[in-house]
Amino acid sequence: MDAKKLGLVFFPAFDWAISPVHPEREERLLYTRDQIVEEGLLDMPSIQEYKPNMAKVSDIERVHIGVPDIKSLITNAHLVSSGGVIAAADAVMRGEVDRAFALTRPPGHHAMRVVHGTRGFCAINNEAIMVEHLRKVYGVRKVAIVDTDVHHGDGTQDIFYHDPETLFISFHQDGRTLYPGTGFTDELGSPMALGTTINIPLPPGTTDAGLHTVLDHLVMPVLADFKPDIIINSAGQDNHYSDPLANMNITAQGYARLADKLKADIAVLEGGYSIESALPYINVGIILAMAGMDYSKVIEPDIHQCPSEPLSVTRAIKKVIVEQQNMWAMREKLRSEAVAQAGDFWSRTRNIFYDETGINEQQTETVRLCPKCSGYLLIVTEAYGSGFDCKSAFIAVISWNACARCRQAAVDAVYKAKKQGKYQHYFVQNKYEDRLEKM
Ligand SMILES: [Zn+2]
Ligand SMILES: [Zn+2]
Repeated sequence: MDAKKLGLVFFPAFDWAISPVHPEREERLLYTRDQIVEEGLLDMPSIQEYKPNMAKVSDIERVHIGVPDIKSLITNAHLVSSGGVIAAADAVMRGEVDRAFALTRPPGHHAMRVVHGTRGFCAINNEAIMVEHLRKVYGVRKVAIVDTDVHHGDGTQDIFYHDPETLFISFHQDGRTLYPGTGFTDELGSPMALGTTINIPLPPGTTDAGLHTVLDHLVMPVLADFKPDIIINSAGQDNHYSDPLANMNITAQGYARLADKLKADIAVLEGGYSIESALPYINVGIILAMAGMDYSKVIEPDIHQCPSEPLSVTRAIKKVIVEQQNMWAMREKLRSEAVAQAGDFWSRTRNIFYDETGINEQQTETVRLCPKCSGYLLIVTEAYGSGFDCKSAFIAVISWNACARCRQAAVDAVYKAKKQGKYQHYFVQNKYEDRLEKM
């Protein structure tokens, strides 16, 4: 294998934790850092370390609308974690390294477009913030995000649900058995983007064998068809057989071979809570694979504890693969049918739960399906919870390529809502002019 230059960014966030004994804590990265230093990886000419910068609020507001504002919902640690992911992307885009891996926390893949608080340990979505940075600064358009965390990447899915230029693929433990309880095969994207959200729910007990069948027969062929300009890996490591929060049986070798196949331009750390038994091995395996080096010797000392895959699990995996292969083959037909059926507008209403703070959000999105542009999106959001003042907002999101009529219609909708005065806050997220305006 040729040695490739790999950029690494570390940010363990010493001052950010949900609580001192919470599984999402700084030791997640400290053990990994020790292992990397012990293996001499940082002294290798093919590996270059970068320092994170702080992301700017304007970077975050390209993606998120915080109610009442994003600054009051996050800490400096969030800005550094996002800034670290941006630094990794910049190193790749400037051609200083072939690939990069940002090992930062807090994680981000459960954070949705509208933010009322923290859910699934996430307040802002690091990958989405990086994608919008890549689009704004480097003109990147077609992006694939492959989420390999054991939990469904519901935040990333939400943010790109109406975007046909972002392919979001998530495999995860079946939502009927694990947080956040979503990520089923019928969540495919809204009509104009139908088929560019692909969920692969896997049964508890899936091993390396099942996972690599999914990669070889579904993920890799879909990526080859989609031809993204850039591939991003939301690299969660909680599919490991020793992880305390989930029930999958993936090994460090399974993850390293995944990284080797995927050849992501940028990997971004998500979850993974088996702090001593798994994370150092998985991270070293991924780093070696991304750097094009030999990873075959990275093996957990307790590997004999990893169970084999029951036949019923293997069969269930094959069924999901066939279902999504068929969807992908039919995607253009399905999309034109869905667009025709929706007419001018498509909408959905959801309940979104913020487990950290016990907030319940009721949200309705209405998408304008415009034949001339990517249209606009209207969002009505109301959040309530005990000890939490009800917060409501009316939001218009104008797409980056919106036609003049859509831009006007979106702003008019906000003015009309404001005149009626049913909500507390009014926003226009104007991607066409790259700014978030509070009205
Ligand atoms: Zn996770
Ligand atoms: Zn339009």
